[in-house]
Order: sequence, then structure tokens, then C-alpha cells
Amino acid sequence: MRIDGHTEVYGLIGKPVGHTVSPALHDAFARVCGRSLVYVPFQVDGDLGAAVKGAYELNIRGLNVTVPYKSRVIPFLSDIDEEAHLLGAVNTLVRIPGGYKGYNTDLAGLKKAVHADGIKLSGRPVMIIGAGGAARAASFAAAKESPSVLIIVNRTPAKARLLAEEVRKAFPGLKTAEGSLEDAGGLISGSGGHAAVFQCTSAGLYPETGECPVSDPEVFRGTEYGFDLIYNPEETLFMKRVRQSGGMARNGLAMLLYQGAASFELWTGEKIGDEALEEAMRTLSRAVQA
Ligand code: NAP
Repeated sequence: MRIDGHTEVYGLIGKPVGHTVSPALHDAFARVCGRSLVYVPFQVDGDLGAAVKGAYELNIRGLNVTVPYKSRVIPFLSDIDEEAHLLGAVNTLVRIPGGYKGYNTDLAGLKKAVHADGIKLSGRPVMIIGAGGAARAASFAAAKESPSVLIIVNRTPAKARLLAEEVRKAFPGLKTAEGSLEDAGGLISGSGGHAAVFQCTSAGLYPETGECPVSDPEVFRGTEYGFDLIYNPEETLFMKRVRQSGGMARNGLAMLLYQGAASFELWTGEKIGDEALEEAMRTLSRAVQA
């Protein structure tokens, strides 16, 4: 692609950003849509507010936001989408007059990835492992689908309790349970089977590939669907355990694809069709393997 005076600049802010595969993803979307567009990772070490203001002044059309700024960036926005406000986290900034509006496409990305697998969460037990930013998105995405019970377990159980309280507040009447990682087996075995489990911690992420947040493999007996938000390695220990117990297991690459497509659509107004998604998925897989 030739960069000229009309090239649109998008980017990612976070710390660190060296590992990101998002440039390859947005490059693929830009190619398919025939747009002159660059997507640049920017590591923000110091003043986040100054970085957002500077991006606006430099006419940067849109940004993704990653760890550790998904919540911290909110005070520096001109507006925020209702769902992102409810989640308390944004991953996409869209340029509007005077500043940026924050959105969260993680939730929609996860939902689309699960639906693409033909899985419905309504009426079945759903367990969320973790209580950080990704677990928040997964919990709200699951809660919207009316599971029979939403179980949240975390290494720090107090955070699981807080998250469960917030979900209950947003979805009154939803049955929830929460506890420590050690409670996972007891909570899931009493929940009626056919469970969907979302692994939302960083345990098992490359290079610590020997880790699984739940150490007892028996916990996953009865798990019909296991979704690990990690996409590197391609198969995590969590996924192996779900498969060994007879369940279907997926990694987080499709979620990454769909959240990226949703960001791209918000920024450009383009519609990313199935062919573009397939092409971008191939590009993403190559980028992760590299
Ligand atoms: P975060 O906010 O920092 O939360 C980290 C979570 O992992 C916390 O619940 C933490 O427990 C738990 N944890 C960390 N190390 C652990 C260990 N060794 N054993 C057990 N639990 C551990 O991070 P995040 O933004 O939620 O991201 C979590 C994962 O999701 C990352 O691997 C990230 O790459 C992935 N992710 C993927 C996508 C995608 O598109 N596929 C999108 C977003 C995130 P404590 O509360 O006890 O500290």
C-alpha cells in the first residue's frame, strides 16, 4: 500500500503493545475494502490523557485500547456508548467532533464467535473463570443470553463476588454463584450439566503454556463447550482438558477477529463481509504463528 497525504491513521494504545497482531488484521480489512489506511501500535508510558488529546490533534481517526487502559481511558473521552458504560471498559475510540466516543467491541466479538460455533447460552449453566476486564465482557455477554445460572470463579474470590454483584444489578433475576478457583468443581457439578465455560484469565498464555487456572481436570467433565479467550498458543491446557472430557473447545482468535471487524466498521462505516472475514482470519492465524 502507498502512503500519501490522504492515508487514514488508526492505532492501538496500551502497554505493552509489542505482541499485538491487530495491525495485520486491520491491514487485511483495509486491503479488502480498498482503503489507504495504516494501523499503528502506540505504547503509552506516561500521560494517557495527553496521548488521547495528542491523537485527536494529529487527526488519528480511531484507536483501539488494550491493557492496562480499557477503564482508565474513560475520563478522557467526549462520549461513551451505553454498553461500554455498563461494562466500565472501552476497547475502541471513534473520532467525533471535539474528541473520541468510547465503545466496547469485545462483548460483541465474543458473542459472534460463540454464535458462529452454533452455541446458545440461554438455559444452560455458564461458568466464567476470571474476574478481570475480559471476564467482565464475557459475564455481561453471557448474562444477556439468560443462562440457567452464571458462575464466576477467580483466583481472588472477592473480585468474583464484586463482578457477580454488578451483573446481578444489571440483570435482576439472573441466578448467579461465585467463588474461588477451588470452588469451580463443586459449583459446576451441581448446575445441571451441558455447561459452557469461558476461560478469561491470562493463565496458559504463551510462554506459560503449561498453566491452567483450574488444576483439577475432573472439573470439566460435563462441559459441553469450552472457550479460552487466549489465542496463543492455538490449543491451551484448558482446551485440552475440555476436549479430553468430550467437550468442544475453541481459542480466542475468532473473538479477536470479530471485535476487530466491529471496530473497523465503527471507524469506517464499511461492512465487513464473510469473504473479508475469512481472508482476515487466515492473515491472523499466520500472524499468531509467526
Ligand atoms: P486482567 O484484567 O489483567 O485480568 C486477569 C485475570 O486473570 C484476573 O482474573 C486474574 O486473577 C487472572 N489470573 C492472572 N494470572 C493467573 C494465574 N496464574 N492463575 C489464575 N488466574 C490468573 O486481564 P484481561 O484483560 O481480563 O485479559 C485476560 C486474558 O484474556 C488475556 O490472556 C488476554 O489476552 C485475553 N483476551 C483476549 C481477547 C480476545 O479477543 N481473544 C480479548 C481480551 C482479552 P486475579 O483477579 O486474582 O488477579
